[in-house]
Amino acid sequence: SSAALRVKYGTSVLANSRLASTLVFLESSKDGKIAQSSMSALTAAAQLGFPIAALLAGSSASKAAEELKKTGGSALLQQIYVANNEAYDHYFAENVTPLALELLKEPEYTHFVVASSAVGKSILPRMGALLDFQPICDITKIVDSATFVRPIYAGNALATVKCLQDKKLISIRASSFPAAAASEATNAAISEAPQSSQVSELTVKWEGENLVKSARPDLGSASKVISGGRGLKNKETFDNLVTPLADSLGAAIGATRAAVDSGFCDNSLQIGQTGKVVAPDLYIGLGISGAIQHLAGMKDSKVIVAINNDQEAPIFQVADYGLVGDLNEIVPELTEKLSQN
Ligand code: FAD
Repeated sequence: SSAALRVKYGTSVLANSRLASTLVFLESSKDGKIAQSSMSALTAAAQLGFPIAALLAGSSASKAAEELKKTGGSALLQQIYVANNEAYDHYFAENVTPLALELLKEPEYTHFVVASSAVGKSILPRMGALLDFQPICDITKIVDSATFVRPIYAGNALATVKCLQDKKLISIRASSFPAAAASEATNAAISEAPQSSQVSELTVKWEGENLVKSARPDLGSASKVISGGRGLKNKETFDNLVTPLADSLGAAIGATRAAVDSGFCDNSLQIGQTGKVVAPDLYIGLGISGAIQHLAGMKDSKVIVAINNDQEAPIFQVADYGLVGDLNEIVPELTEKLSQN
């Protein structure tokens, strides 16, 4: 019962904050590379100011731990836990949750941080339900160790929430925290994570994955993004105009939902409320009206350029540079000029 869990995980307000520490869950690829979004979670964990323990799970956990030891990332990183078990390979919430909760039993872990990725979005609510604590999702800023800022209503308002729970379960918006950069190798000790007995037969099974492979920078962390909208009219124009411009700048490609739904490009490129959230140094929108649901995914970009033939298009309200005109004329000219440099 939740009452029993509360006893197990402690209900008393932590009297001595010197005991506080943060557990951060890091995702890694098969070759042991830690996800960029998880390195952003490490940055957020460091901003809390407490000693950090990292948790790595899956058959590449040890490799990722060695990588992390070399990379460092934060002087506060003191402990790296590995759960080298293929049962964690696809980060099924059914398995990862008991693993993380096993560590969180320790009263010193007052904060749990994970990226607001598909994995974070799947494990955090489950942890919250089992602990009977309210998770604080998709935060964009840490005010202090109990106060966080998170966007609500698709980014139209920012809520500052204070959390009085003993354990703060937090997911972070990766585009709001820079990925922890390589620092001096850490002295953090690597040890086996205490594994719960609950790694058992699952009711779900991994059938396979179909990933869109691209040599381009990852949309979520690219420093430049070229995004196409319905104004491109069809897939052919999308490919002929967006791709060369992105090539000339070494940029990632994004799109609006209208472009995705019209079949101009793959849905993994969708930016917005129901797509990816990006905050690159440069965002160029081609034939995009600037609907609120699209802005929710890109309005924190540092420099926004919009090309649209309707000067009343709402995107111009958030754009730093606006070009009013036909994209069929402007984009090839722009691409040519950029390619000459
Ligand atoms: P349009 O709004 O049709 O705009 C096309 C623009 O191209 C126009 O401004 C036009 O002036 C311009 N144009 C046309 N021809 C040219 C030309 N030759 N040269 C230059 N400019 C030209 N949308 C998202 O993008 N992401 C989301 O995550 C998302 N989630 C949603 C969730 C919900 C619940 C709902 C209801 C909607 C969501 N939408 C989302 C859809 C959103 O409301 C808009 O419909 C969509 O963003 C519009 O895409 P667009 O700007 O490409 O198309």
